[in-house]
Amino acid sequence: MGLIPYKNEVYLDWTEEKNVEAMRAALKDVGSRLGRSYPAIIGGRRVETDDEIVSVNPADPSQVVGRTASATEREADMALETATSTFETWSRTSPEARARILLRASAIMKRRKFELLAWEAHEGGKPWFEADAQVAEAIDFLEYYAREMLRLKDGVEIYSVPGEESRYTYQPMGVGVIIAPWNFPTAILTGMSSAAIVAGNTIIMKPSEFTSVIGAVVAEIFEEAGLPEGVLNFLPGYGSKVGDYLVEDARTRFISFTGSMKTGLRINELAARQIENQRWVKRVIAEMGGKDAMVIDDSADLDSAASDIVKSAYGYSGQKCSAASRAILHADVYDEVLDKVVEKAKALKIGGPESADVNVGPVISEPQFEKVSSYVDVGKQEGERVLGEDPGDPQGGYFISPTIFEVEREARVAREEIFGPVLSVIKARDFDEALRVANDSPYGLTGGVYSKNRDHLELARREFKAGNVYFNRGITGALVGVQPFGGFGMSGTDSKAGGPDYLPLHMLARTVVERF
Ligand code: NAD
Repeated sequence: MGLIPYKNEVYLDWTEEKNVEAMRAALKDVGSRLGRSYPAIIGGRRVETDDEIVSVNPADPSQVVGRTASATEREADMALETATSTFETWSRTSPEARARILLRASAIMKRRKFELLAWEAHEGGKPWFEADAQVAEAIDFLEYYAREMLRLKDGVEIYSVPGEESRYTYQPMGVGVIIAPWNFPTAILTGMSSAAIVAGNTIIMKPSEFTSVIGAVVAEIFEEAGLPEGVLNFLPGYGSKVGDYLVEDARTRFISFTGSMKTGLRINELAARQIENQRWVKRVIAEMGGKDAMVIDDSADLDSAASDIVKSAYGYSGQKCSAASRAILHADVYDEVLDKVVEKAKALKIGGPESADVNVGPVISEPQFEKVSSYVDVGKQEGERVLGEDPGDPQGGYFISPTIFEVEREARVAREEIFGPVLSVIKARDFDEALRVANDSPYGLTGGVYSKNRDHLELARREFKAGNVYFNRGITGALVGVQPFGGFGMSGTDSKAGGPDYLPLHMLARTVVERF
């Protein structure tokens, strides 16, 4: 196929009036379509369920964004049956044809970009810049995985012994259960689903219960792109109600999960148990939480370090698995960096995503609001709060202001994933100690070092225990194809989404040898 080389989708420029106007129009348009119902889609058929999931706007919980089906075991069973039978045909469809559907889905997302951004703002509470980065990432996944499939379609080179031909190729695996989180409802859902599909698998797509309407929009886009019925079965539902059933079923070949450590470990455990009629060892791709640290040493550009700490800690209200939730500062620059961070964080504009200049939106849901609020209480006991206020009444929106605690490294707020706009600042005697503190975590997703000292950078290059390590820059916003993403330790299986090793995780490698 004669495709142009892969290139990341360019972010929108919000200083251009035409973009601002297009976004306002999309917010209005999507605003006029709120409250609709979205059934499950199984084998192309719309399937209603007895119960529903009511999705609300986190900036204004009285506003219902939409109602989706809430799947039970009955619908899960139908979806697994359909995906199993459709696998017979889809797995035999040419890789080129499968790739073309991703490219078409990408073109549709580009055409419907402002609408997708507006759904992100309404259902995800995303500020415009964050929504744009996320939709761009979804487009990148489609473009990148389409090209990756074309790269891998004839297998990869291996050696043959004289008189024989050895071939090493990849084949589709089977039915995949795709379980996504709410924090990147367009990008992660699209990325996990498109990788599985382009590799020739059929899927059950289960979005997060907090962003099921965006899930429905993504499912519709694949449908519009011409994906045959039954390849993607859209199954909105509560993880607690339908998750175990999907994971345990003998028809499930693999599970691609992104979410919390607790759920990921449960999935891993359930998938490992063999049940009646099961004919394979289920594969689990699980990308989980983080407690990501930025280390600032005494040689660093302190202004720039402080700006990137603030961006990495408070982008999307700290609800990124890659977010900086610990800043570990060399004692000699501690006060100066902390002052700068406080000053810059104070300047952030908090609010519902009505305009381009809002930096920090609400957290996603009432349970998340309660969880983060309880950590704010814990932090107040454990250390000194140098920025932030007690959260207000969640009925007015799930807003929590950027918060900073000065704490010791053992503090719970410095060890447990909070997933909100809360930063723990820790003092270290020297660089070695700072790196030790950074590594002293069961997680290992992202990490950063700000330094001009070559020895420190080289040490961190080798020893920083994280799947994605960044020097002298922020630690969030991994670009597809440029910064393949996935964590060490309890952050997951290090699948490296958006990288060259990702698609093979969704396929079976096959060796065929012929002697002549
Ligand atoms: P979560 O674990 O609560 O839910 C994730 C998904 O799992 C949802 O779709 C949910 O319905 C489903 N689920 C819940 N219980 C289940 C069960 N028993 N069986 C099967 N599925 C079940 O996580 P969340 O709150 O949606 O997302 C936030 C978490 O995701 C954070 O910990 C964050 O760090 C992590 N995350 C990680 C990455 C990464 O790439 N490593 C990216 C984004 C988010």
